[in-house]
Order: sequence, then C-alpha cells, then structure tokens
Amino acid sequence: MRLPENARFSTRCIHAGQVPDPSTGAIITPIYQTSTYVQEALGVHKGYEYGRTQNPTRAALEANLAAIENGRAGFCFASGMAATGAVMTLLEAGDHVVATDNLYGGTYRLFERVLRKYRLDFTYADTSQPGELARAIRPNTRLVFLETPTNPVLRITDLREACAAAHEHGVAVVVDNTFASPCVQRPIDFGADLVVHSTTKFLNGHSDSVGGAVVATRDEHIDWLRFVQNAEGAILGPMDAWLVLRGTKTLPIRMERHNANAMVLAGFLASHPKVETVHYPGLPSHPQHELARRQMRGFGGLIAFRAGSFERARTVLNGVRLMALAESLGGVETLVSHPATMTHASVPEAERRRLGITDDLVRISVGIEDVEDLQEDLAQALDRL
Ligand SMILES: *Cc1c(COP(=O)(O)O)cnc(C)c1O
Repeated sequence: MRLPENARFSTRCIHAGQVPDPSTGAIITPIYQTSTYVQEALGVHKGYEYGRTQNPTRAALEANLAAIENGRAGFCFASGMAATGAVMTLLEAGDHVVATDNLYGGTYRLFERVLRKYRLDFTYADTSQPGELARAIRPNTRLVFLETPTNPVLRITDLREACAAAHEHGVAVVVDNTFASPCVQRPIDFGADLVVHSTTKFLNGHSDSVGGAVVATRDEHIDWLRFVQNAEGAILGPMDAWLVLRGTKTLPIRMERHNANAMVLAGFLASHPKVETVHYPGLPSHPQHELARRQMRGFGGLIAFRAGSFERARTVLNGVRLMALAESLGGVETLVSHPATMTHASVPEAERRRLGITDDLVRISVGIEDVEDLQEDLAQALDRL
C-alpha cells in the first residue's frame, strides 16, 4: 500500500501519513496511549523517547494534515488556541501583527489580553477590502494573521492579493482555515506561509474532540514549531489525534453535504418574508460572491441571518427542535447560536456593531442531516414570529 505522488484530495485525506501498523498489519494507525518508550540500550531507540516529544498516532495525523493542506509539516496541539499560541511564539517583543478585524473571539482575546503583556502590538484591518492590509503594515510588522470566511458574517479576504501584499514587505502570512476546511480552501496554494486550524470543527467533524493544528511551509518555521511544540508542551493527546485522523478520512464527503445543505438553507432563508439579511458566500447577493467562487470549492457550512430584533432571534433560537442551541461548529449535527451573547460576548458592543454582529443575528452551523428536515425545522421556528 503506497500513496501515489500525485494522489488527489480524497485519496490523500484517507491515506496520507498512514501505513499499516508495522507490528501487526492493523490498517488503522493505533492509539499509542503511552507516555514513554523502552530503549534497547543506552542511546539506542526507535526514534521515540517520550510522549510529549513524539507519538506515532499524533505523527500520523500531523503528516496527514500537512498533506491535505499542501504544506510541508504539521504540528498538533491541545486546542486551536494552543496552535495559534504556538505560532505567535515566532514573534519577539516589539513586533507588530496585522490581523483581520473580525477574528475568532478567542484569538482576539489571546492577542489583546495575553500577548500585549509580552509587548506584541496588533492592528486590526478589514482585510476583505483591497488595500486595507497594505495600509496597516509598518516597519516592525512581522506577521499577517488572516481569517476567511470570517465568523459570523462570512466576509472573504482575497488570499492571493493579501499574501502578495504581505510578502512585498517580507511579512509572513498565517491563515486560520478552520471555517472553510482544506476541502473548501487551501491557503498555501494562494501563498500563505502557515495555516492554523481548530481541529475541533470540520477536521474532526463529530463534536467529540478538542484540538488544534499548524501546517507550515518554511524551514525556519518548521524548526521552531517542532522545538516549541515540545518546549511548551501543549500537545494533542493520542486519543484525540486518532479521532481527528478518523475525521479527515470522510472530510470530502462531509464537506460536500455541508456545502449543499447550507446552499439550500441559505436560499430558503433569503426568500423567507420574516428574515432580513442572509450572510452566505454562495448567495449572489453576498458582496464577495465572485471572489468566493474563485477562492473556494463550495461555500462552506456556516450561515448567519438577521431575524429583525433580539426578541425575534430568541424566538427562533428557542423554537428550533432538531437543531441544537450550542457554541462550536463543523460537526455532523446542525447547531444554532447567538453570536452577540455567545461566541462574541467578549467583543465590546461598539466593535460588535461595527462588524455587523447585531443582536438579531443568528448563526447556523449546517450539519449533514437530510436538508428537508432542517428546512422544516427552520420553517416552524420562523412561523413563531
Ligand atoms: C473554534 C475556533 C478556534 C479555536 O479553537 P479551539 O479548538 O476552540 O481552541 C480558532 N479559530 C476559529 C475560526 C474557530 O472557529
């Protein structure tokens, strides 16, 4: 069993990083639930010394994720935030970062509440607007941190253009690709130097694991991340690595259904008389629909819409029966949430308003159930308005 050099995406999802277990032939990489490895003699071992430093299950997942993101090396961490935290250790006190202004709330909190203490400086720019990114770059800018599509209003940044603008100034680009997944969008193909993921979402896909990953392309980043993964030690455990490895095998068919279901529900909501605005990159009314068509394969599983008021949003959120009211996204089951009081509660109100995260906004992470059941559930919840 050998993966061809030119294997396509789904084949890589299933096979990359994995070989039948050398001791038994088990087709699935086992969960190597061990903290240490016996050495044959002093200084003689099989490349595995201690569980924080090396683990075969984690190594298989890291190789798998590197292959499906078209990167050169992957590193897995205890959560998406731990992955982003590790990337930020590439920087030194006095360095400046330009970030997308509508970042994941936890990333914003890490930058503002933790990393500012270490004298890192951040500028938030609307990177979906051409030119805004270049305008925010300073002589001490070392990193551009992008998220596209953004959460929850799904603004799109032109990755090719953004990477070119950053590279013109010698600045590295990291893209948080959690919302799209590598099936829908591969930032490295557009010039990104690093990709981060919360594997908690689409990559694992079954809402039963928390984890994170970094995929790197450049030697200096790879060397540092390998060092810091061990030095700080916020590694992904073997059981979670195994779950995500199982998840990526079905990523392409899950994403196909997430994309298709979301497209149907976005169309339904857009034509519903009780719904105001629908944010979904697949709708021709989305301001960056054409860019999304060029940059993404399918438009992802996230939709946000305005119900008209906080009370009306509450009625819909409490009215759904099949869909579950919960934070997180990217699982096989459909979740609804209220960004203003849930995922984005830590963003100051004025900033939320500026970003379009209004009190009447409802977010749906569209699952892979039968879309007719999802649409019927939404219809009966909207009927309560
Ligand atoms: C969930 C999420 C994170 C954080 O990941 P955790 O696994 O929860 O730490 C980062 N970025 C985005 C876009 C996310 O959705």
